[in-house]
Parts: sequence; C-alpha cells; structure tokens
Amino acid sequence: MARRGAWQNWGRNQTCNPIAIESPRSLLELRELVGSADRAGQRVRIAASGHSFSDIACTDSRMLRIEALDRVIDLDREAMTVTVEAGIKLFVLNDELAKRGLALSNLGDIDKQTLAGALSTGTHGTSHRLGPIAAAVISLELVTANGDLVTCSPTEEPELFECARIGLGVFGIITKVTLQCEPAFRLHSLEEPHEFDEALESWNSITASNDHVDSYWFPHSEVVTIKAANRTDRPIWVKSRQKQWREEILIGNYIFGGLAAYGRKRPSKVPSIARMVANNMGRVEKVDVSHRVFCSERLIRFVEMEYALPIEKMQATLRRIRDLIESEKLQVDFPVEIRALPADDIPLSMANGRETAFLAVHVSSGTPFEKYFRGVEAIMDEVEGRPHWGKMHFQTAEKLAPRYSEWSKFQKVREAWDPKGRFANAYTDRVLGRTY
Ligand SMILES: Cc1cc2nc3c(=O)[nH]c(=O)nc-3n(C[C@H](O)[C@H](O)[C@H](O)COP(=O)(O)OP(=O)(O)OC[C@H]3O[C@@H](n4cnc5c(N)ncnc54)[C@H](O)[C@@H]3O)c2cc1C
Repeated sequence: MARRGAWQNWGRNQTCNPIAIESPRSLLELRELVGSADRAGQRVRIAASGHSFSDIACTDSRMLRIEALDRVIDLDREAMTVTVEAGIKLFVLNDELAKRGLALSNLGDIDKQTLAGALSTGTHGTSHRLGPIAAAVISLELVTANGDLVTCSPTEEPELFECARIGLGVFGIITKVTLQCEPAFRLHSLEEPHEFDEALESWNSITASNDHVDSYWFPHSEVVTIKAANRTDRPIWVKSRQKQWREEILIGNYIFGGLAAYGRKRPSKVPSIARMVANNMGRVEKVDVSHRVFCSERLIRFVEMEYALPIEKMQATLRRIRDLIESEKLQVDFPVEIRALPADDIPLSMANGRETAFLAVHVSSGTPFEKYFRGVEAIMDEVEGRPHWGKMHFQTAEKLAPRYSEWSKFQKVREAWDPKGRFANAYTDRVLGRTY
C-alpha cells in the first residue's frame, strides 16, 4: 500500500516528505518494491517506529515501513534462541519471550522500537558487562539493493554480519533476526538520590559492583539519582498499582511534563523548577521481571543527544557540561543520563574497542536545543566522543572516521553490498560520506 505525505519522528524534531510511503505486507512484496526502486534508480529508506532523534530515518525518496513483518518464526528452548521478523516491536518480543520462559539479557529504557531499528542505531542498555542489543544477534537476513535475499552470520558472509548488526540501514533491509536469549530473570532495582560530587566519586565502583546502573544528574541542582538493578531470586514485589502509577506515570511523566511546559512559557523559571523536581526525588524500589525493570513509559516527548566516550573521562566531561550550563546560563529542563557499556567488536558500535560511558542530554520537545547540544558536542569532540546514531548530533564523516578503527572496513563492505547507494539518505551522506 503506497501513500504520500509528511512523516514525523517521535521527538517531533524531524519531518520529511517522501515521494511515497509503502508498507509491504509480505517479504515477497518487500523484495519487489526494493527491486523496482533499484530499476527506477530511486533510493529507499526504512522508517521503523520513528524513535530516533536524528534524521537517520528521513528521506525525500521512497520510504518503506515493515511493521507488518513482525512474527515470531521460531524459538529454540534448548539453545535459547529466537528467530523473528525484523519489524517486531521490542515490547511484543519481550512478552513473547516471557511467555516461553526466556528474556533478552539487556534492553534500553523503552520498548516501543522495532528490533531492526534498535539494532541498526546501536541501541544499548545499562550494563558494564553486557553490550548493545546488537551483541545478541546470531544471524541476520537482509533484502539487498537489487531485491535479493541474503543471510549472514559469523560463518556465512561474516563481514556483512559484522557490519550490518549496527548498520545504520545502509546494507539492506533487515527482514529476519536470530537472537541469543537466556532464561527469564527478575531484577531487584533501587533508585536513590545522591549528592553530585559523591555520586561522581562513587560512580565507577557502583557501576562495577551492580549488574545494571542508570544515573541522572538534574541540571541546576546537586542531585544525581542512581538506579542500581541486580539479578535476584526474590519474588516479584512492586508497590500497589496505584502507588506505581503515581511514582512512574504521574510524577515521572505528567507532573514533570507539566512543569516542563510551564518552563517553556517562562524560561527564567526553569532552574528553580528543575531544583524543585530534583529535590523531591525519592527512593524507588521494586523486584520485577527484567523487561519491566529495564523499560519505562515515556509519555512526555523530548529531544536527545547522546555521546559515547572513554569511561575514564566521564566525570571530567560531566563537570564540563555542568560548567557550560552555568556559564552560558542555559535553561535545561531535562536531566543528563549516565550509563556504561563494555568494549565490543562491532565496527560502528559506539563502544567499539573501548570501555565506554554514555552521557545523554535532553530537552523537552519544543524547547530550543541547538546552543546546548552544540556546546556539549564541542566538549565531546575533545574526548573523541562518538554520537549515538539514532540521537541528535551535527557530525560529519570527516570528523567521525578517525574515531572508529574499523571505519574503512565498514565502508568497504557497504560499497560491496550497495554500490549504487540505494539505501542511503541525506543523513548517511553526511555522517558516512558517499561511497557510490
Ligand atoms: C523515549 C526514547 C527512549 C530511548 N531510549 C534509548 C535507550 O535506552 N538506549 C538507546 O541506545 N537508545 C534509546 N533510544 C533511541 C532508539 O532506541 C533508537 O533511535 C532506535 O533506532 C529507534 O528504533 P525505531 O524502530 O524507532 O527506528 P527508527 O528510528 O524508525 O529507524 C532508525 C533507523 O534504523 C534503520 N532500520 C530500521 N528498520 C530497519 C530494517 N528493517 N532494516 C535495516 N535498517 C532498518 C533505518 O536506517 C532507520 O532509518 C530511545 C529513543 C526514545 C525516543
């Protein structure tokens, strides 16, 4: 089914006008569409659930949506693997796995994305021991530029496999994914406020001694909340539905969103509102199944930039962001998130080859962000920061190439599989350059 019209992402900071938006209902239809685009000399780009803040999914050519390809194809309980169509949403996948006693080892903080979208941008979670979601991929099936179907794994087309796990959509359309899972598990999570200096000093040891750590510094305040989650055999223990709704939805979304909206109308009030919110952060504890601890409801829209940097530079870099906010008198209405990830071997993973800290800056949708984000990006340039592919940034291929030791391998494989740049868009032209 094809239609015309504008497309907008979740954060409402990216809009584009594709010449057609097509939603194939089957693999055969998808292959025909890609083949016809190739014959017509047109570019195609997948927009999945639109949860990227960068223009990575945008196109002025043909846009494809593959949400209809979302089935669980096979589940091997013994090997603990699952094979799914790539348009499956993470919350559907999590539920399907839970029903069969399995789970993904790590997840980001929402579950609304498609699996292929999350893989393609390097979506990551919160563990210093577990890599991005893409690290769990065992094999991929893709529709290539001329409509052919290819399967890749460590033993079949291994170079394509290495690169396409975090491929920014340039190798082809991922249609099928096999993932390594593990037995379903529960997490005990405890979130508590800490004082800024003390939180930064203890962050390395807290990160090393807990399975998952997710921290937020509230600009204009001294408050850092640290949420530490660990595997447990304890039974599920959550507050009453009402209390949980109050803590997670009412305070975390509606009250916070209301204050952010007030701050947009009266920017000079933002620092005092932010301090009030920060100073009211309490202790939140629960034991629940893993995906319900990892993932939250995000009902208030925001725009985000996230950078990966060498882990040992986290504290000094966060202090520089704090100095920037103070010296430029920036009115920042959303917290700065701090996470860690181990080094991995995926060529364009933000954590490739180095132990990584992630620092993410946010503002509520509709708030001007360019001065803040460009200021943060200048700081990140000095620490060889690598931008999250799915989040706002202003980088170019020229500046990014030296920050990735396997950049030329990625480009070589891209040239081999998409010599005419059928899967490129303005974003990939800018951040990867043109190889065609
Ligand atoms: C509220 C919120 C919370 C978030 N939390 C986290 C987090 O905790 N950790 C984190 O790392 N990120 C996080 N993100 C970022 C998000 O996970 C990524 O941007 C992800 O890519 C979005 O997936 P999507 O399905 O919306 O893909 P889209 O944004 O729609 O598409 C992204 C790109 O993926 C590629 N793609 C999609 N499907 C395919 C396919 N089938 N074949 C080939 N390429 C494809 C395309 O190039 C597409 O342009 C968050 C985003 C939001 C809005």
